[in-house]
Amino acid sequence: MKAADIRQTFLKFFESKGHQIVASSPVVPGDDPTLLFTNAGMNQFKDVFLGFDKRAYSRATTAQKCIRAGGKHNDLDNVGYTARHHTFFEMLGNFSFGDYFKKDAISYAWELLTQHFKLPADKLWVTVYSEDDEAYEIWNKVVGVPAERIVRIGDNKGGRYMSDNFWMMGDTGPCGPCTEIFFDHGSDVAGGPPGSPDEDGDRYIEIWNNVFMQFNRTEDGVMHPLPKPSVDTGMGLERIAAVLQHVHSNYEIDTFVALLAAAKAAVDGAGAGDCDKSSASLKVIADHIRACSFTVVDGVIPGNEGRGYVLRRIARRAIRHGYKLGARTPFFHKIVAELVRQMGEAYPELRQAEARVTEVLRQEEERFFQTIANGMEILEAALAKGEGQFDGDTAFKLHDTYGFPVDLTADVCRERGVTVDQAGFDAAMNKQREQARAAGKFKMAQGLEYTGAATAFHGYEHLVCESSKVTAVYVD
Ligand code: ATP
Ligand code: MG
Ligand code: MG
Ligand code: MG
Repeated sequence: MKAADIRQTFLKFFESKGHQIVASSPVVPGDDPTLLFTNAGMNQFKDVFLGFDKRAYSRATTAQKCIRAGGKHNDLDNVGYTARHHTFFEMLGNFSFGDYFKKDAISYAWELLTQHFKLPADKLWVTVYSEDDEAYEIWNKVVGVPAERIVRIGDNKGGRYMSDNFWMMGDTGPCGPCTEIFFDHGSDVAGGPPGSPDEDGDRYIEIWNNVFMQFNRTEDGVMHPLPKPSVDTGMGLERIAAVLQHVHSNYEIDTFVALLAAAKAAVDGAGAGDCDKSSASLKVIADHIRACSFTVVDGVIPGNEGRGYVLRRIARRAIRHGYKLGARTPFFHKIVAELVRQMGEAYPELRQAEARVTEVLRQEEERFFQTIANGMEILEAALAKGEGQFDGDTAFKLHDTYGFPVDLTADVCRERGVTVDQAGFDAAMNKQREQARAAGKFKMAQGLEYTGAATAFHGYEHLVCESSKVTAVYVD
């Protein structure tokens, strides 16, 4: 089953269960300045869940374009390292706005997975919130999942990747337990079952999260049961596609195979000759072309602040990976055509914007290719010193003079087992900012034209403060 068919099957299944098929919202949330990018299917329904907005339907289903490359959810550092994380992915979801609740949600999920997608039941594991006996009983008694494959997950505040299975929109407001469905990819893949110490591997893959909005939490911390509880679910299309196409990595599904081939051709044509087709760098490029293209579709252009800076960071990371493989001239924008072939039908806005996307990315590449060679030389020279930590001043110089976002430097360093001195980088950044401010003041005092601080670089600062404001959505 191709990814496109899986998307359709999901939407049609929920349509047959009385759900309205609703189009994906843009990756740039129009009315939510607190959110960097749309990171879940529920984002466009936030006000419906909160009761501020009414719709003509009480059940909806979507395939939502999501980006998790900044803010509360940031999977950028996972890309190229896990088989299951992307910066851009599609989240398939079904939603109940005060309509059905746990029993139907769980039964629908099980019916779709085992009867329509025909997954063997014994490969599926589920997690429930430790105190959610109701969900446990439904899985165990109604659906018939044996106790050995139901894992109760408590409040895991350890910051591990596993959700603590309790979702909150914020400190107050709607919240409730989740139940998640995992697929066991088999013993030839490393990793332990959910809740175990080695759950971080790629063997037991979380495919579907079902959130039960059950309480309203007030400022005093009291959880008041909601009169009409709701359901919000999300399943990663690429992850279920990997399962259904019998491959262990998202990068082996049909859409990614095509993108990887296009990425290889582009990199080879730009000077690499014949790069290693299994290189992790190609996966990073294939991932990043999706995030970059879809953000440009929604009007973002590479810049030094906020969303534009996230786009620039992702694009430059991809370009650096191409450079690593041997590309010496712009190649990244050439992959857009294949992306349009793969996803233009499901997302016509992508096809429509193809020329603009290609041109915006080409310009960013032209810009970065002017400094990347010198920057890489400096970076390599610093790494050759063999110190365990990459010095913050050099990281800042790379950022300031050569346009290397600090996470790009960190990405190179990580490949060598080296970390970047972030505190040193921040100190260097602040020092330059102070100097720029002082210079500005000095000129003002002299009665000269004010030219100082306004030109100082604020991208990183903006990004950080923007991310700390993010209020949505899943507990991670
Ligand atoms: P993980 O624990 O694997 O990081 P998550 O718990 O952060 O996933 P949720 O917030 O529960 O993910 O999102 C619902 C579903 O979306 C997940 O079950 C998964 O199938 C998919 N998903 C989440 N993050 C990504 C990603 N970065 N790339 C691809 N799919 C993702
Ligand atoms: Mg996550
Ligand atoms: Mg998780
Ligand atoms: Mg989850």
